[in-house]
Amino acid sequence: MLEKVIRELIEAEGPMRLDRYMALCVDHYYRTHDPFADFITAPEASQVFGELIGVWCVTAWRAMGSPAAFNLIELGPGNGTLMSDILRAAKPILPAAHIHLVESSPRLQEIQCGKLSATWHDSLSAVPEGPAILIANEFFDALPIRQFEQREGKWHERVMGLVQGNLQIGLVPTEFKGEGDLVEISPARQSVGAEIAARLSRHPGFALIIDYGHAKSAAGDTLQAVRAHKFVPITESPGVCDITSHVDFEALAGNFLNSAMLSQRDFLHAMGLEQRTAALVAKNPAQRDTLHRAMSRLADEAQMGKLFKVLAAGSPKLALPYPFTEP
Ligand code: SAH
Repeated sequence: MLEKVIRELIEAEGPMRLDRYMALCVDHYYRTHDPFADFITAPEASQVFGELIGVWCVTAWRAMGSPAAFNLIELGPGNGTLMSDILRAAKPILPAAHIHLVESSPRLQEIQCGKLSATWHDSLSAVPEGPAILIANEFFDALPIRQFEQREGKWHERVMGLVQGNLQIGLVPTEFKGEGDLVEISPARQSVGAEIAARLSRHPGFALIIDYGHAKSAAGDTLQAVRAHKFVPITESPGVCDITSHVDFEALAGNFLNSAMLSQRDFLHAMGLEQRTAALVAKNPAQRDTLHRAMSRLADEAQMGKLFKVLAAGSPKLALPYPFTEP
C-alpha cells in the first residue's frame, strides 16, 4: 500500500513537499490502475481527435522541409489510442517516421506495445536527437507541482503531514514569494518544457501540447484528485486515484521562442472537426448521436472546448503550421 509507505516517510522525515507526494501518487497510480476507469481523455472520447492531430502532423512535417527521417514522439501515450489514430490519418509521413513513446508505467507500456510498433523510453532525455514532431495530451497535468500560500503577510509552502494519524495538508515557512494568496509552480513541467525547447533549437521540429489549464498565470489551488469520474480529496487513498493540476500555459509557453496557443475548440474547428464528424456520420448513420455527442464533448465551451488549450511550439526559424498564427 502506497499510503503506508507515505505515512512511514512522513513519520521518519517530517512533512512531505506536495511535488514529492504527487509524484509518488501518480507513479503508483499509473503502475497499478486502468486510468480510463476514472477519467476519459479526448482520444478515448473520439477517434476524430487523433485523426485531426494526424492531419496537423502532416502539415508540420512539410513545414520542416519533409525530412526523409524524423522522430514522432509522444509523451504519456496512455492506451496508445491517440498515436494509433494519428498514424491512420498521417499516411504520407509514415515512411519517414520513427515512433518514440515516453511512458513510465510498465503496465501502460504493455498495452501500447499491443497496438503500436515503437521504441519506448522512461524520459524524453532518452529519445534520440533529430528532427522531431512531439505530441503530449494530458501529460503535463500529471507532472508534480508545489504550492505556496500567503497567510497574514507571510509565505509558506503547503506540505503533506500527519495529524492524529491522518494525512493532512499543513504549512511550513519558506523563502518563496509570489503574487496572490496561493501560488502553484511546477519545476517538473518547466524542465520538460525546457528540454523540448532545447531540442527544437538543435533540430527542426514542432511540438503540440494539449491539456487543461489557464492561458495566463493565475493564483489559486487547482490540485485535484479524481476517482471513478468524481472529485475526491487529494489525501484520500494516495496512489488509488488520479492526482493532477491545471497547467499554467503562460509559464510553459515561456520556455519557447516560437509558440502560439488556441483553445481546444478553436483548434479542432479549424482542423475540420465538423467535416470529419459529418463524413463519419455519412458512413455510419446509426452512430450519428454518438458521433455528435463526442464532437460536443471535445469542443463545446461547457465541456473540453474552452478549459483545454493547445500550445504549438516550433524551431525558432520555422513558421508554425496552420491553424497557429505566426509570431
Ligand atoms: N495521452 C493519453 C494518456 C493520458 S494519462 C490520453 O490522452 O489518453 C497520462 C499518461 O502519462 C499516462 O500514460 C501515464 O502513465 C503517463 N505519465 C505520467 N507521468 C509520467 C512521467 N513522469 N513520465 C512518463 N510518463 C508519465
